[in-house]
Amino acid sequence: MQCLRCRSEDTRVIDTRMGVDGFSIKRRRVCNRCGFRFSTLETPVREEITVEKRDGRIEEFDRQKIATSLRAALKKGDHQRDRVEALVDTVVARLLSDGKKRLASAEIGIVVLDVLKNFDELAYLRYLTVYQSFANLDDFKNQILKSEVKT
Ligand SMILES: [Zn+2]
Repeated sequence: MQCLRCRSEDTRVIDTRMGVDGFSIKRRRVCNRCGFRFSTLETPVREEITVEKRDGRIEEFDRQKIATSLRAALKKGDHQRDRVEALVDTVVARLLSDGKKRLASAEIGIVVLDVLKNFDELAYLRYLTVYQSFANLDDFKNQILKSEVKT
């Protein structure tokens, strides 16, 4: 980081503080050449992650959608809200752990199933039923599309 006054690249950090939200870091720096002091703010860049649907459409990765489908499988009232949130966190963390920028919707389903399996067997079976019916519906649509191309 260059000095704002003399543009020297020889600056050092003299103080580091976590931002109030916990998602930013403020650093106090001093220029070793002219002694000028200034602050920098480091914040995370939001990763653009996309999801490829079975029919080839691309959507933005949406944590909320995963949460909704998990809640639907778990059914209202069966579980405490924070436990469901923790489950969503587990799914999202696993999906993002290998740093992929694009996920297939089928991949998401598999991770959700795997996490649910160890959490609630009934919810697992509910999700599996929905997951399979969607898979079949997409296959069905693909078949129609293929036959349309032929004719
Ligand atoms: Zn300077």
